[in-house]
Amino acid sequence: MSFFGDYGGLYVGETLVTPLLELKQAAQNALQDDTFWSEYNELLRQYVGRPSPCYFAQRLSGSLSNVKIWLKREDLNHTGAHKINNTIGQALLAKRMNKHRLIAETGAGQHGVATATVAALMGYECKVFMGEEDIRRQQPNVQRMKLLGAEVIPVSSGSATLKDAMNETLRYWSDVVDDTFYVVGTVAGPDPYPWMVREFQKVIGAESRCQMLENAGVLPDCVIAAVGGGSNAIGIFYSFLSDDAVELVGVEAAGRGLDSGEHAASITAGRVGILHGAKSMLLQDENGQIREAYSISAGLDYPGVGPEHAFLRDAGRVRYETITDKEALEAFKQLCKFEGIIPALESSHALAQAFKEVKNEKNRNILICLSGRGDKDLQHVQKILKNL
Ligand SMILES: *Cc1c(COP(=O)(O)O)cnc(C)c1O
Repeated sequence: MSFFGDYGGLYVGETLVTPLLELKQAAQNALQDDTFWSEYNELLRQYVGRPSPCYFAQRLSGSLSNVKIWLKREDLNHTGAHKINNTIGQALLAKRMNKHRLIAETGAGQHGVATATVAALMGYECKVFMGEEDIRRQQPNVQRMKLLGAEVIPVSSGSATLKDAMNETLRYWSDVVDDTFYVVGTVAGPDPYPWMVREFQKVIGAESRCQMLENAGVLPDCVIAAVGGGSNAIGIFYSFLSDDAVELVGVEAAGRGLDSGEHAASITAGRVGILHGAKSMLLQDENGQIREAYSISAGLDYPGVGPEHAFLRDAGRVRYETITDKEALEAFKQLCKFEGIIPALESSHALAQAFKEVKNEKNRNILICLSGRGDKDLQHVQKILKNL
């Protein structure tokens, strides 16, 4: 269970092995317990606003040739993205384990906000570790976290961004595991996080599969999602894995182009290595040092990817493609114009890939995970459009 083929595992220092095995046991018990799921489902209904719609984008589809585009509207969730599905699950697990404090890493601040939100909801103390560079770039989310009662801890080591924040959170956790639960933000990190987070995000695909059968009368020919660490993607893919006719496409950020070196395409352009306690595909330099990832969308610039994605790529079940900043920005504008929906820049990568997939005749129904809304990206987009 702790490996996906050769990927995954639990490559951590000795002090964290026992806590992680305890967490795994607690997660396994909880996930087999109906009362756990009913509490989780009730919060998703009443607090998050699920089920999110699976919306037929009629005008956008009309602008393309002979294809129906369906949008899974994770942007309509409370806090504006899919991340809350996961933080609710982990916070409920923390309660079962009698932990009183939550800690989390964050890059762009989206996961930090989702963790601070559930901490306020359930009455936990909360600390969020964030690189100093990211604190500078993502002030609105820093202010949100503080307003929600979380303490934001600046991390100055390394490049002072997400990978350093996650290293620091793991280090800090090993000193305080007795009363503290570490809420990881994506399907990365040591066992059990990759499969545990997937279990909390698979609601996206479970709902979508029923909604497609109900609304479209068929399963989609193709399902597309953006891949940062890979949690919204695995979340929507999971219920379709055994539907062989459904093609699954994960989209990595090509940033300024794969040749430029400024991108976040860990599967497409990375190598096997170990980061944050797991073996997966990583961006590395010639010495095996982790390279800084770059993307126009802060949520995609993680230098690794969840181990299950590396496995699904090798198994040939999921195809991984890349989309540049420029292509994502163009897709962002199209969705605003045709549907009155401002998507997150992350989700815009999935949209841009859909515009390429329509060229394949077989694709009559394409389902896209609209992982989040773009309000957070407005300033950034305005600045870029002005400079063009
Ligand atoms: C964080 C984020 C992502 C990327 O994270 P995954 O774990 O790959 O899903 C994608 N979209 C949005 C809106 C995000 O906030």
